[in-house]
Amino acid sequence: MAAPQHVRAAPLARALRASATATATATVSASAPAPAPIKSQGTSRRALLGLSEPQLRQLALDLGEESYRGKQLHDLLYKSRAKQIQDFNHVPKAFREALLGAGWSAGRSPVHHAVTASDGTTKILLKLEDNRLIETVGIPVDDDNKGSSRLTACVSSQVGCPLRCSFCATGKGGFARNLQPNEIVEQVLAIEETFKQRVTNVVFMGMGEPMMNLKSVLEAHRCFNKELKIGQRMMTISTVGVPNTIKMLASHKLQSTLAVSLHAPNQKLRETIVPSAKSYPLGALMDDCKNYFLETGRRVSFEYTLLAGINDEKEHAEELAELLRTCGGGYHVNLIPYNPIEGSEYKRPYRKVVQAFVDALEARKITVSVRQTRGLDANAACGQLRNEFQKNPLLAIEA
Ligand code: SAH
Repeated sequence: MAAPQHVRAAPLARALRASATATATATVSASAPAPAPIKSQGTSRRALLGLSEPQLRQLALDLGEESYRGKQLHDLLYKSRAKQIQDFNHVPKAFREALLGAGWSAGRSPVHHAVTASDGTTKILLKLEDNRLIETVGIPVDDDNKGSSRLTACVSSQVGCPLRCSFCATGKGGFARNLQPNEIVEQVLAIEETFKQRVTNVVFMGMGEPMMNLKSVLEAHRCFNKELKIGQRMMTISTVGVPNTIKMLASHKLQSTLAVSLHAPNQKLRETIVPSAKSYPLGALMDDCKNYFLETGRRVSFEYTLLAGINDEKEHAEELAELLRTCGGGYHVNLIPYNPIEGSEYKRPYRKVVQAFVDALEARKITVSVRQTRGLDANAACGQLRNEFQKNPLLAIEA
């Protein structure tokens, strides 16, 4: 039984500084040599999952094997979906033992719990090597008109979140650590295995702030695209805004969507809803979004959680339209009626209030959509299911 581990939550300023340093070196190269197996935060072994074929070939060479053994590892991880090195039957026992001896693991975690809502939305809790829980959500959508079906994976990027947006269940639970690339990649594999269907879309909208773990997020994004064949345009990275990181992301010129969680049309109101907004003034955030569009040609999606009586009035919509006009033409607004969470006084606005907000934006020629609430009965709001099983992410659950 693992002893519970105590980790102090990083204060926001320290967390922001750390993320700036981490992202300054956030480069992803699939042809880089295989990384040495180092003990990383939260894991005792280096994971194979997430590595590219050239990296796996290099690893095979480094361990005295022929390069084609690396290709076999690639097939075992991404085609056969083997979960443990012990199950790598296609490679010789001596190679399996060499991998284990050198400190490698396959990089898969067991499913701790799963719940399915009446609409098919399924939340899965994965139990990580250090016994912490993360949640990932599979959202199936049948497109009757096209006769096709989509499966969206909503993935977590951190265990908890240090940013504490006032309406978010994840923030209420505190922050433990960043996820490793394999811990992000395996969420999509777990969803595919649960649904017995390929994931078509990925949104980085689960637990955590992706821009504070950009290096791992970019590695996972590369793996989704190259190894799991999920189109870049089918992926969205969502952020509440972390200074300097949008520029960094833009420099990678991904064809994925940047979603920015705005929630208010002015700095004063935003600071009351999103405490971290104090360190990133709205003007600077909007400038970075404008430059993101200019640099990548990709429209920025602004998310706006509608909270009854707080940010949902017609005047807020008008002010939002005014703010977006300063951002050029490349944007879209995604309204999210608040999902009630335990212990919060916020309320979801009535449908007619949401519609009036939509009308006010559309009258000002803003393209807007309202996110359909999915799987409410499966604790759909971010971080809710995890909180039910693990009130404090700073403590690991018992093995
Ligand atoms: N940290 C990132 C991604 C995680 S949250 C971000 O802030 O963008 C993904 C989206 O869900 C965000 O827009 C967030 O504001 C929204 N969200 C979180 N909890 C919610 C709730 N209880 N009701 C409605 N939207 C919520």
